[in-house]
Amino acid sequence: MQFRLKTSSRFGLAILALWATSAVVAPAFGEEAKIVQTDDAYFKDGEANLARILQQQPNTKRAKNVILFVGDGFGVATMTAARIFEGQQRGVDGVSNLLSFEKFPHAALSRTYAHDSQVTDSAPSAGAMLTGVKMRNNMEGVRGSAEWRNCGGTKGKEVTTLAEVAKSIGMSAGAVSTARITDATPAALYSHSANRLWESDADLSEEAVSNGCIDIARQLVEMKYGDGLDVMLGGGRFNFLPATMADPEYADRKGKRKDGRDLTADWLKRYSNSGAYVWNLDQFKALNPKNQTKVLGLFEPDNMKFDFDRPKDKGGEPELADMTTFAIDAMSSNPNGYFLMVEGGRIDHGSHANNAYRTLTDAVAFDKAIKAALAKVNLDETLIIVTADHSHALTMNGYPDRDNPILGLVKEKGKLALGLDGKPYTTLGYANGPGGLKDGVRADLKSVDTTDPDFIQQALVPLTSETHAGEDVAIFAAGPWAHLFQGSVEESYIYQVMNHALQASARLEGKK
Ligand SMILES: [Zn+2]
Repeated sequence: MQFRLKTSSRFGLAILALWATSAVVAPAFGEEAKIVQTDDAYFKDGEANLARILQQQPNTKRAKNVILFVGDGFGVATMTAARIFEGQQRGVDGVSNLLSFEKFPHAALSRTYAHDSQVTDSAPSAGAMLTGVKMRNNMEGVRGSAEWRNCGGTKGKEVTTLAEVAKSIGMSAGAVSTARITDATPAALYSHSANRLWESDADLSEEAVSNGCIDIARQLVEMKYGDGLDVMLGGGRFNFLPATMADPEYADRKGKRKDGRDLTADWLKRYSNSGAYVWNLDQFKALNPKNQTKVLGLFEPDNMKFDFDRPKDKGGEPELADMTTFAIDAMSSNPNGYFLMVEGGRIDHGSHANNAYRTLTDAVAFDKAIKAALAKVNLDETLIIVTADHSHALTMNGYPDRDNPILGLVKEKGKLALGLDGKPYTTLGYANGPGGLKDGVRADLKSVDTTDPDFIQQALVPLTSETHAGEDVAIFAAGPWAHLFQGSVEESYIYQVMNHALQASARLEGKK
């Protein structure tokens, strides 16, 4: 009995011990969580952002002005890298840095595919934004049913651009770009062409000449809507000068035109009162935006310099921010408002060359131009949109330490990260391009300064020129009707928002 009792009591103790142990592990009920992380910097940032967004009121006033910023090839990876680069250049934390437009209240994703391609080139992409319809690659301002390089077949398939409507209702319209002002993006403002490369008459095919197609440079100078374009600043001078004329900046170069016309002279003849033509920095600085409101500026025979190379330019070039400021100053005097397109044209060219350094320095120059515009305009009456026309095959690789240079080799916890080939790799790399594998072998970068401006990023597929990429790009917007950018949209929707904000087509109808 005693034994039995002893046994049962020992058994009971064991159960008691088991119960006690499980009581420690099992969740207690009825307790209250305490949010202990409210002092954390990320947490506080989120709270402040929420408070800011809760304060937002949609601005439904008619926009007086619209500025469309297009970073050519400014995909999301490029944007992230540029944000880090810009911060690191200033000696602050790169990853938490923000570019000016990243503080805009509204954003959406833009699906950029062309009418005939998963990946767009700049011509139909700018065309989609400026006309509301998608086009085939390499075509300017014509419907998707028009055929590339077929001038005759394109007749009657031209579509109307927002700039043409703006001019027809008495607004000002213009473009500034670091690319040729006749290049794909700015040309979408004013031209209709079965081939984006028909920039001067020397580029036209026999078929185009016999069917009466006109080159893009001539279309700029002869723009027939209203009193024509107002401020056009960029490169591409050789498309405006005759082949018999020496270039003013480079004595060994000449114009391209075969028709003998000097289109810069034609511009001055057309705008004898308020017109100006400039080709260097000193002339640009001497312009007075109060009375010189019809300005053609052509600062290079071809594209303008990359921002990194600009200070070394022979004739001197204005930076994108200064061209933007001038365009706003010159067109602001119009009480009917203005439509301005600003293109960071060479972000794209840096990536085509797999040269991330020049891509990022041009991206920073593009951001500086947006900052300059924000300092000038009143967001209560001006809609500002910042977007890209397409992405590039750039990626941000590895798990680099937070303060690792964005152009550097990947270091994790201070140590070089190595591929299976035993070689280090850079944070920024391309899927294809001139930095592609040579005979299937990757160069060893151990003793290479990958932050050098002339360093060419490694790529997988070897190509002479890196390609565009087809994933969605971002749209950021601030000002009247910016809240119409939501979710994932077709790139051609950007036209609808700009047109609605300006009530442009309604004003055009109202005139009739
Ligand atoms: Zn491109």
